[in-house]
Amino acid sequence: MRFGYDDACLDHDPGPRHPESPDRLRAIRQELSKRHGVEYVTARDAEREEVERAHESGYVDRLVEFCESGGGSWDPDTTAVEATWPAALASAGQAMWAARRAVAGDSGRETPFAIGRPPGHHAVADNAMGFCFLNNVAVAAEHALATTETERVAILDWDVHHGNGTQDIFYDRGDVFYASVHEDGLYPGTGELEETGEGDGAGATLNVPFAAGAGDAEYVAAFDELVIPAFEAFDPDLIIVSAGFDAHRHDPISRMHVSTDGYGVLTDRMRNVADATNAGLGFVLEGGYSLDTLSEGVGMVHEVFDGMTPVTPEEDVSEDGREVIDAVLDARQGIGSK
Ligand SMILES: [Zn+2]
Repeated sequence: MRFGYDDACLDHDPGPRHPESPDRLRAIRQELSKRHGVEYVTARDAEREEVERAHESGYVDRLVEFCESGGGSWDPDTTAVEATWPAALASAGQAMWAARRAVAGDSGRETPFAIGRPPGHHAVADNAMGFCFLNNVAVAAEHALATTETERVAILDWDVHHGNGTQDIFYDRGDVFYASVHEDGLYPGTGELEETGEGDGAGATLNVPFAAGAGDAEYVAAFDELVIPAFEAFDPDLIIVSAGFDAHRHDPISRMHVSTDGYGVLTDRMRNVADATNAGLGFVLEGGYSLDTLSEGVGMVHEVFDGMTPVTPEEDVSEDGREVIDAVLDARQGIGSK
């Protein structure tokens, strides 16, 4: 794969006890150094007007001012330093690059993966939250819509947390489909299966809130029975994966049981649906807080594009998992293909 990476993303340091640490990127780079076919690109930063396609200008002013005055605690989870603003522009810039390259047709071994931080999917149009300042995938989707032939973007968010920010930004939009598989009851508490979009965006939001304990079999079933049919009906020009790795069974902040191989299967499924819909495909890093499983997860995504065939899990879907999938199907009854 080609990885969008900028050293500026290391300078956003929320402190020694914060899980969203610059060591996350160092661990990924270390892991990728052991693999063949890894290429790095440092794309340009996002420009302020590009950020403001997804964020309100007044919020951007407040964020710039907060960082320039030395930063501090924006909220109890979300800490900025002076270097956070340039890091956020670099992180959003790498995501924009991934979207641009995916639209341009980079695929196979050239598939783009933006490994920036801070992450983005909790950031809403007018606020930072949940370790996130700028919504990288939202900025990237808007960039593709504004500057390329792209007319429809589908975002798949497999981070263990619900991407409330991404959902919120596109909730009433018919040109961006947002799908999330996440742990029910975890931060930030949104992402109920009844949240399916409104107005022009009615039906263009898909939430699969699994109970704690769901793993490969449940995730793969959610993809096969819910996400992939919805994406096929939506027929996107671009698919962006909000790729967090905190649903891994060894991640310290969730209780989900996805395996490293499982991420390989999910990657393969996304590649197949991109091929089937003739859409570009790019990845953007979100969470993942065990350095080992985070870096192995990114390494697994790379391996799938480098030719490895991931093994589909053989376990059956749990009863709990089946109930959630059926309930999502029920909630979507009557939602036609848009
Ligand atoms: Zn997360």
